[in-house]
Amino acid sequence: MVSRVIPVAPFDLVVFGATGDLARRKIFPGLFHRFEVGQMPSEARIVGVARSEMDVDAFRNLLRASLLEFADRAQNAEDRVQAFLECVSYVRVDAAGEDGWEALSKHMRKDATRAFYLSVSPSLFGDIADRLSAHGMATSESRIVVEKPFGQDLASARALNATLRRSFSEHQIYRIDHYLGKETVQNLMALRFANSLWEPLWNSTHIDHVQITVSESIGVEGRGAYYDRSGAMRDMVQNHLMQLLCLTAMEPPSKYDPDAVRNEKVKVISALQDVPQEDIVRGQYRETPGQQDSYCDHAENPDSRTESFVAMKVNVGNWRWSGTPFYLRTGKKLRARSSEIAVVFRDPPHMIFPKMEGRRGNALIIRLQPDEGITLRTTIKEPGPGGLRLAEVTLDMTFAEALAGGTDTQDAYERLIMDVIRGDQTLFMRGDEVEAAWSWADPIIAGWEASSRTPEKYDAGGSGPEDALMLLHREGRRWREIG
Ligand code: NAP
Repeated sequence: MVSRVIPVAPFDLVVFGATGDLARRKIFPGLFHRFEVGQMPSEARIVGVARSEMDVDAFRNLLRASLLEFADRAQNAEDRVQAFLECVSYVRVDAAGEDGWEALSKHMRKDATRAFYLSVSPSLFGDIADRLSAHGMATSESRIVVEKPFGQDLASARALNATLRRSFSEHQIYRIDHYLGKETVQNLMALRFANSLWEPLWNSTHIDHVQITVSESIGVEGRGAYYDRSGAMRDMVQNHLMQLLCLTAMEPPSKYDPDAVRNEKVKVISALQDVPQEDIVRGQYRETPGQQDSYCDHAENPDSRTESFVAMKVNVGNWRWSGTPFYLRTGKKLRARSSEIAVVFRDPPHMIFPKMEGRRGNALIIRLQPDEGITLRTTIKEPGPGGLRLAEVTLDMTFAEALAGGTDTQDAYERLIMDVIRGDQTLFMRGDEVEAAWSWADPIIAGWEASSRTPEKYDAGGSGPEDALMLLHREGRRWREIG
């Protein structure tokens, strides 16, 4: 399959927080990759911004080291790395003060598309947006990109939206959820809306339930203080899992257009029913024997009640999905790092073959990581003599194999940054969408805070708390194995 890379027009991209972890691991390596495949024009300019005192050469040296560490294509490509670094400059700006803004303003070209990527703490978003406006940089051709967390609850998300909208209109604000930049997530839309095969089956008549799992094998090491104020519900469910649920459950939009797609997602969130506490399991990983590595060993509060795991049953109250629950599950220190959506179909209404032990039934599994791809579990006759016995097999399509030879695979961040430059908001969250997701999540979190129940402890390296297994078992269903 031949890759089609469409170059974007020259642009000025200002990265606030250019010396930080996200910029060095994802943003700059992603930009380098786009440069390498010919999508980023050499007239593009990238301006790194942070408070650290350094000149452009020192900043380029920092980036060179980051590229060598995090960008595969930078290995043994010193000339190409140097050519990329020629596009990069550095301006020292204090986002919370007055230093550097005039210098930044003078640095910008008048005629190029401008994008401001705020890879800094959300507490600085308002300061930056206001100063960009005050210094005349927030033109009608400007875009502003903000990173999660987008609020801690509905009130703070509303306040953030209001702050950004003082200087930028909604069509200029790009709220990143990097899950939406993943190849498989977009493929979910292609699968659903570019094939006639699935739509007749995509409803509660044919689908028994849906499982959405995002599991991590690592714990909160190094991020304990941040995570302890957030927990799995705010860090993962309200944003990433919610987005996956929306794309699975939404009605076909009338066109592939930012507002048409996002309108349908908002309708799904609005249709979510309240989740009773008995349909939610919260967990917290405990210490591995002999090691001080429990959740609480890394949290600020040694008696923390913050959850590192959540599983829940969610009902979408509309005609398509009534009677088909969506089970969401996410956690840290689980058996493997893996993300998938499993659409599990109902059994045939009348089975003419002998009962098959352990039968799990038809399922379509959309795998986000590792090995992005799609699997269809189907039932066949077990090969060989001895009567007709059934067996389950999977039809597997790993994108890396299916598209081998010339495909330009992109990391989620690089795809999303190029979408910002092109002005395509389809894969970014709209303000009302974020607020709707918080409106749903807030009462759940408030219920936990009002209750004296502590999260159930679970062992590292497993599947999470026992009660999470029971959530499905009690209804005659079972989770797919993690990993
Ligand atoms: P980080 O490593 O702490 O980096 C913060 C950056 O902000 C540094 O470059 C810092 O440089 C700069 N900075 C801090 N205060 C500043 C100020 N007053 N003016 C100008 N620059 C300032 O943070 P990060 O991990 O990269 O995260 C950045 C954002 O992305 C956060 O909102 C985070 O929640 C979000 N995020 C991060 C990840 C990730 O994997 N890291 C994933 C998802 C979302 P100086 O100290 O030199 O000013």
